[in-house]
This record gives sequence, structure tokens and C-alpha cells, in this order.
Amino acid sequence: MSFSSDVKSELCQIKSHKSCCLVSECAGMLLFSRSLTDEKISFCTDFDFVAEHLCYLIKKRLKITAEHIITDGGVNKVEVMSKRDRETIVARMKNGDKPADGLIQNECCLAAFLRGVFLSCGNLTDPNKEYRLEFICPSRLMAQYLYGFLSGIIENPKMAERDGVYYVYYKHSEAVEDMLTLVGAANAALEVMEIKVEKDMRNKLNRVNNFENANLAKTVNAAVDQTEAIKKIIAAGKLDSLSEALRETAILRKENPDSSLSQLCKISGCSRSGLNHRLKRLIEIANEL
Ligand SMILES: [Zn+2]
Repeated sequence: MSFSSDVKSELCQIKSHKSCCLVSECAGMLLFSRSLTDEKISFCTDFDFVAEHLCYLIKKRLKITAEHIITDGGVNKVEVMSKRDRETIVARMKNGDKPADGLIQNECCLAAFLRGVFLSCGNLTDPNKEYRLEFICPSRLMAQYLYGFLSGIIENPKMAERDGVYYVYYKHSEAVEDMLTLVGAANAALEVMEIKVEKDMRNKLNRVNNFENANLAKTVNAAVDQTEAIKKIIAAGKLDSLSEALRETAILRKENPDSSLSQLCKISGCSRSGLNHRLKRLIEIANEL
């Protein structure tokens, strides 16, 4: 099952009891369907439960029976056979080419309308891959209408046209979560949030690991440089000419080539800054040889 089908299945379980919201949801589905004219009303979906939901809304609110047809290719279609019924629906939903006024009467109807639009043409990409919630609109006019509508509700929708198909979409996680929450897909919204937390955590761990690896590499490189310098001083017969403190440090490092500075401090009882200073001095002396 895809993320979109999970969301749509969750949305179809919401059965509004308000007649105002039922009209809005029905309008959202039909206005963004393939065809909504006196000649042909045709709604297509991959999911039988979405087709059944639309038939339920049309029957419940408009008292019209719509047909749920499954094509040979497995596509679920909802059609209205009677011309009079089609005229009734179109007159209720459209004003010329545009959505009719008064489809959204109350604040509660906003969510219902958008729920219908998502059921009709919405798509949610797997949030493990990317955050993208899109509406694949049936025409430029409807894309522009939806874009304007969404702009007033959740900030920064985007609109694009690709090969004659019009998309209105959101690409950031907060907008995707807000949209899912608004239309009533609370479980899906929670899942997106959980995935985001997990992703952030993984990124943070990677950053810490990279940082630790870089530090480790630095420590190892420093120890190798110091050991090489001390070997050079010994080979040149200069160990005995060093001060007592430097000589002790040179022997300490030579005997503990893999130890970190902190470990050397513990073994010798010297301070960190003192030991660090002497090791640097040993490297300088070796460089001068
Ligand atoms: Zn309402």
C-alpha cells in the first residue's frame, strides 16, 4: 500500500454529519474529477473505497444515484447516467467554467472541501524519500483556483505544469503535516512527524560520528608526528642533551605511542597544557636537526 492510499483510506472513514460539509466534500471530489459537464460526469480512481465514498456522498446529499463501474484495466469509475441528474449536479457545483459560489458556507466546510480535493487528485510521496503533497489538477483553471484557495490557508503552495499536467503542491514537511492534519488524516500526519524526527536523529548521529572520526584522526596523527620526532632525536644522539622534563616526556611518548594526550597526563601526572607544550617543543627540536 502506498502512502496516498493510506491517507485516502483514512479520509474515507470520516463521515461528516453536517449537510454543509457533505456538499463541500462532494464538490471537492467532483470539481477535480476528469469530467464534470452536462454531457459527462466521470470520476476515476485506483481505489474502490474512494469510488464508493463518492457514490455515498452524491446519494446522501444530492439524492442522486451514481454508478460505480470497474473497467477491465481495474480503474474505478463513478458516472452519472441520467442527463437530468447530471444537469442538477453541474448547476449545483459550477458557475460556467468556475466553481459555483457558496460551496463553502462555513469554516467547517473548508476541511471537507480539501478532503474531497485530496480524495480526487491528491498524492502523498513516501516521506522517507521526500516531503511532497501534490494535487494533480484536471485543468490550468482548476489549478489556479486551488492555488489561490490554498494560499489563504497554508502558506507557500507551488504551482507547476509538466507535459500539459497542472500540479499544485507543497514541498516542506510542516506544510505537508498541516495539510494532512487539516483534512483529517491525523494518523498520516503523525507518521510524517515520526519519520521526520527519526531522520533528524540519524542526521545528527552522522554529524557526531563524523566529528568524532575527525577528532580521532587528529589525535592519531599528532601521536605519530611526536613519536617520529622523538625517534629522530634519539637517532641523532640528542636525548641526553634535553632538559630533564623534555627527556621524561620523550620517553613517556616513546613507551606509549598509541595513548592520547589525556592518557599520557594520567600516566605521568603532568598537566595537559604542560605536556602538550613539551610535545610541541620536541617536534620543534627534531625539525631543527
Ligand atoms: Zn460545514
